[in-house]
Amino acid sequence: MTGAMRNKSNIPERKRNIIRVMLCFMIAKINKKLNLSYLCRMITYEEALQIGVSHTYITEYEQIAIELASGRVLAQEVVSGVDMPPFDKSAMDGYALSYDSLDGAFSTGLCVVEVIPAGKIPEKHLSCGECSKIMTGAPLPEGADMVVMVEDCRQERGKMFIDTLYRRVLHKGDNVCYCGEDVKAGEVLLNKGTLLKPQDVAIIAACGYRYVQVYKKISVGILSTGSELCEPGERSGKERECGKIFNSNSWHLSSMLSCMGAEIRYYGIAPDTEDDTLRLLSEAVSENQVVLLSGGVSEGDFDFVPVIMKKLGFEILFDRVAVQPGKPTTFSIRGDKYIFGLPGNPVSAFVQTFLLVRPLLLSLQGGLYSERTVSLPISSSFVRKNARRLAHIPVRLSPDGTFSPIEYHGSAHISALHSADALARIPIGVTEIRKGERVELILL
Ligand code: AMP
Ligand code: MG
Repeated sequence: MTGAMRNKSNIPERKRNIIRVMLCFMIAKINKKLNLSYLCRMITYEEALQIGVSHTYITEYEQIAIELASGRVLAQEVVSGVDMPPFDKSAMDGYALSYDSLDGAFSTGLCVVEVIPAGKIPEKHLSCGECSKIMTGAPLPEGADMVVMVEDCRQERGKMFIDTLYRRVLHKGDNVCYCGEDVKAGEVLLNKGTLLKPQDVAIIAACGYRYVQVYKKISVGILSTGSELCEPGERSGKERECGKIFNSNSWHLSSMLSCMGAEIRYYGIAPDTEDDTLRLLSEAVSENQVVLLSGGVSEGDFDFVPVIMKKLGFEILFDRVAVQPGKPTTFSIRGDKYIFGLPGNPVSAFVQTFLLVRPLLLSLQGGLYSERTVSLPISSSFVRKNARRLAHIPVRLSPDGTFSPIEYHGSAHISALHSADALARIPIGVTEIRKGERVELILL
């Protein structure tokens, strides 16, 4: 946030957040000492996050083949046993030569003494006036200190020539990858707790590991509450008359969580009755360590979820978070079981899964959570009336380095998220952001 943003308080946002988190810790500590439950009140996002990530129970791990490792949490360090590259090698198909012989290539030509394919040790040492044809990835022969790419050379009757045109752009060291320039043997490339991405799997393979240790998958039960919901595929064509809508939350939840080490079981839709919600939720709780459900956590006459959490013996750690969208997000715990009650509106459910559920799931698997944020200038001014919550607005990044809010009609407007690159975070108390001011963006 920049100083120019309109903020009702004089205390900088960062300081206020630190104070909030400290207060949250103090309250939690006092509650624990007095054996009370956490005070359920509107808490800040930072407090909610802190409560979520303070739960790290899972320590078991398993060995898996690397092709299964993407989306899992690493339970070991990945250390390179070799220098990368392990020898000086050519970065191009071309001719390896000594810089001292280069002048000869412009006039009399250099004798081509060998062709070196990738995977073969060169047999010839280059002397003055000699070169070797070399392929990308092949070890550099002794006596060579540069490679000229094949497109810039011509070979005639066993000799290689370079057009004088290229004289000024050729340098010693050109197109050579030196031993250990990327990685030194013994270097730690991936830390314990990393949520593995496809590129990390390539790193693990490049270090020579066929198997890798990861934390065991966490079992997650998913269900949706709402008598108005029907499943995609159950189309009657009469949605309008029956007041029905398709359940979209369960599907985004399972998509988002399946790529972060969750073993997902789906329990379907609970109509808005106490009995149905209790039946489905208790089934999900008995079979999983974490249950994620959406809907039924607000103030409506048929919002039974908090009551049922308590009936099942869960302690509610928070049930109101000062975020927008997603205020009624509810988090409860019983031993080492957790229930996240997400708001029903699809954008709220998505944003809260992204902001709060992901960090919890990661920390339960021993993972290290870090938000990917950037700070960019807004392309036009932004105003909001109610600044009591930390807002997250879907935005699109522009090639000119600015960002703009996308057309968004509120927390039911899930189709708006298709073109969103990030969520712009508007701090509590900020009502206006002027064109060009920088705002923190959380990359999606
Ligand atoms: P609730 O939080 O149950 O009051 O629901 C808030 C809004 O979200 C209502 O308009 C619901 O119809 C809608 N909604 C609830 N659950 C879902 C779901 N699983 N998929 C799509 N929309 C939902
Ligand atoms: Mg509902």
